[in-house]
Order: sequence, then C-alpha cells, then structure tokens
Amino acid sequence: MREIAIAVDGPGSSGKGTVARRVAEVLGYQLVDTGTMYRTVGLFVLRAGEDVRDEAACARIAASIQFRFAFAGGALSIEANGEDVSAEIRGEAVGAAASAVAVHPGVRSALLGLQRSLAGHGGVVMDGRDIGTVVLPNAELKIYLDASLDERARRRWKEHEERSFEAVKEELAARDYQDTHRAVAPLRCADDAIRIDSTGLTIEAVVKHIVALARALRA
Ligand code: C5P
Repeated sequence: MREIAIAVDGPGSSGKGTVARRVAEVLGYQLVDTGTMYRTVGLFVLRAGEDVRDEAACARIAASIQFRFAFAGGALSIEANGEDVSAEIRGEAVGAAASAVAVHPGVRSALLGLQRSLAGHGGVVMDGRDIGTVVLPNAELKIYLDASLDERARRRWKEHEERSFEAVKEELAARDYQDTHRAVAPLRCADDAIRIDSTGLTIEAVVKHIVALARALRA
C-alpha cells in the first residue's frame, strides 16, 4: 500500500489538532503538530526576555532549539533542548507569542527544513497553518478545517472557563487576523485542499470523512 502525506490546516480551535491526532492513530501514521514548534519558539523568546517583534533575536532562538518528539502514554510530547515543554507551551500567553514570532520569515525558515524532514516519505499527518501551501505542497491529501468563530470560541472557552467568553473570542479573532494577514505563509486554504466546516459536526464524523478520503488515495 502506498503511504501518503496528509496536510491539515486551519485556524485556532477548528479541531485540527484533535482531528489530525485521531486520523494518524486510525491510519497508523506519524503525527507532526507544527504549532508546537512555533509555541516552543514563543516560549523560549519570552523566557529569554526578548521582544517577539525582534526578528533577528527570534530567528536566532528558533535556530538554537533542538526538537525531539515522542509518544508517551498515547500523547505526543515535545522536548526542546532536552526539556519536556509539552505542558508549558499550552498557555494563552505562549500561544500569543507563537503567533507573533510566526510572522518572521527567519523563524519560519529555521523550522521549515525540520518540518519537511519529519514528513519523510509519507505515512504522516502534519497539522498547522501553511502545510498544504508551503511545507508540503505535494501532499497527496490536503484538508482545510474550519468552523465559525463562535463555535471555535466556545470550544476554546471550555478549556479556559476561568476567562470570559468574550475575552476568549476576541483573542481568537485577533489570532485569526494575525495568521491570515502576515506577509509570509499566511493561513489560507490551498487551491487543491478539501475544505471541511466542522461547525456542528463531531470530531469522529470529521475523522471518518478524512480517513475515507485517505484510504481511497492509499489503495
Ligand atoms: O496551532 P497552534 O495554535 O498550536 O499554533 C500556534 C501559532 O503558531 C498559530 O497561531 C500560528 O501563528 C503559528 N503557526 C504557524 N504555522 C504553522 C503552525 C502554527 O504560523 N504551521
């Protein structure tokens, strides 16, 4: 059987992380969550006390990080320079820093080679913002997963109920704007991607749909 590369792109809280993980599990494919890399760069920039707008500093930090990915107890963990940062990169401040450092071409190019090499020779599900457009333009299957802003804000709010729904929604809208309007590798649906709107759909329904598409291509 021919193993394929599956690119999953979409805005924050569209469900792409969970969907990508489940699709990888069902197909027995390797999962690469590229958002974790940008988040790690954001974390290290914050820790170093550097300005997220300083491209040279952000690019230098991105290039200095040795990443390692491992599956532990069914969850994907990420190590940066030997430290497990999986939990720490999930914070909202780190997410905002990730989006800010991701605008810099120097940061993106520091991560691109690693992302492409992780895709190997197929048998991979890679999720992010620019996978179908920039990282893996030849991926056999490209999915653009979307959902309405309200639905995505509700999903994110469930994970951060200590904050107000309006604040969560505003932050998500700001992140969307930044990701879709940056000059380099903005978030957009690749011309040859299949667009799925997950508003009102269960994760399992979306997973089933993508797995069926993948199996048809794999045969
Ligand atoms: O998907 P996640 O929320 O973890 O991504 C965090 C940030 O990293 C995004 O807001 C986006 O700015 C950036 N990112 C990116 N390109 C990718 C993956 C993530 O620019 N391929």
